[in-house]
Amino acid sequence: MLYGSISHWRNKLKSGEITPTELVQELAKVATDKNPSVNAYISWNTEAALQAAAKADISLPLGGIPIAIKDNICLQGEPTRCASQMLHNFISPYDATAVARLKAAGAIPFGRANMDEFAMGSAGENSAFGHTENPSAPGHTPGGSSSGSAAAVAAGMAIAALGSDTGGSIRQPASHCGIVGLKPTYGRISRYGLVAFASSLDQIGPITQNVSDAALLLNTLCGHDAKDSTSAPRDTEDFTRNIGQSIAGKRIGLPKEYLSSGNSPEVTAALQLAIAKLTDMGAEIVEISLPHSEAVVSAYYIIACAEASSNLSRFDGIRYGYRADNTNGLDDLYSKSRAQGFGAEVKRRIILGTYVLSSGFYDAYYAKAQKVRALVAKDFADAFTQVDFILGPVAPTAAPKLHNTAQSPLQVYLADIYTIPANLAGLPGISIPVPQNGGLPIGVQLLGQHFAEADLLQVAAALESSLA
Ligand code: GLN
Repeated sequence: MLYGSISHWRNKLKSGEITPTELVQELAKVATDKNPSVNAYISWNTEAALQAAAKADISLPLGGIPIAIKDNICLQGEPTRCASQMLHNFISPYDATAVARLKAAGAIPFGRANMDEFAMGSAGENSAFGHTENPSAPGHTPGGSSSGSAAAVAAGMAIAALGSDTGGSIRQPASHCGIVGLKPTYGRISRYGLVAFASSLDQIGPITQNVSDAALLLNTLCGHDAKDSTSAPRDTEDFTRNIGQSIAGKRIGLPKEYLSSGNSPEVTAALQLAIAKLTDMGAEIVEISLPHSEAVVSAYYIIACAEASSNLSRFDGIRYGYRADNTNGLDDLYSKSRAQGFGAEVKRRIILGTYVLSSGFYDAYYAKAQKVRALVAKDFADAFTQVDFILGPVAPTAAPKLHNTAQSPLQVYLADIYTIPANLAGLPGISIPVPQNGGLPIGVQLLGQHFAEADLLQVAAALESSLA
């Protein structure tokens, strides 16, 4: 099993206790043993990883460390399917910038992590390659859409992983699997080579066993990239620099809208415990208000679906993607290829997105949702005049049971209420596990100001160690 942090394995590699080749061999063995039940990986290429391991330079910051990569992040020479039939035979001809940076830091990409198709979902069940099991809560979903990334880390099938977060897809599966997930500030990590779902919301980020691993990965992943026009013109930083420092005097906002009676008792208890620990460490908890919280889910699903309908129009069977057989003319080819290539949830989103952008409805839905988005961003700007960070739940409940057909899509969407705001406002957010006595894993979320990841990681690390 590959439990143990990046630092743990780096120490073993540096002392010669294990070689990068042995580490990859161990990983391949664990994947072979566990994947039939967990289904965290759609595929992996042991030979390519062994070749990289043979050349790994362990003097580099991530030298010799294998990292699992979500199936929507391009990995050169490997399938990048977004867990969709639509891209079933697509082999990426290039590396995403995030992957190229990991490689340049000595890391070894390993495995294509399962996910909800095109990152649309919250349970990992919308994959064309089968659902993923939650290794920390058998019979339950691992959350989504970065279901495989989180499950791989929680199962000891990866030391760390990359996920993507459009409305919570890093933080929510991390919370449901009992590990750490960081969504950086929008623009912090290049999106070049991330297959777009909703471009104004998508961010790549790390899913790790602890907070300091998230900081270590962010050190490598961040930095301006000319290939992504939304990449922020920011230098790289050392995000571990504040970890271990006191958080006494930090002001942490608790939005009154997040103390909803819709939260499960376990989620409320986890939040209370985090509040107690933060207070013990000298932080000041301040009640704040985010008045537009009840509108975030509607605004997100309008904006995300609108952008998805546009982004996914390229998958037409001609320019990109699966092409249906036995078609009769161009329109028939488009319609059969898209009907057969996309799963039900992706089609639902494309239909919703096309509707809200269509003439006659645009102002009532899309334009209005953009106004709500601006109000949500203003709520945070106002809150951050009073506090340095915001604390809240990650999700209203712990991981739901697998194959729970009792919930309508709308009920599933509503459970994204606490993660969506950070995407709408472009803020960094981190999910930190709160240890449970035998119960299902539950995380709490800390949000920070734009580009304040180093401070956010400081508070997250302090909370993590106080809970240990
Ligand atoms: N659950 C959300 C959705 O289905 C978030 C997805 C994501 O962050 N990729 O849209």
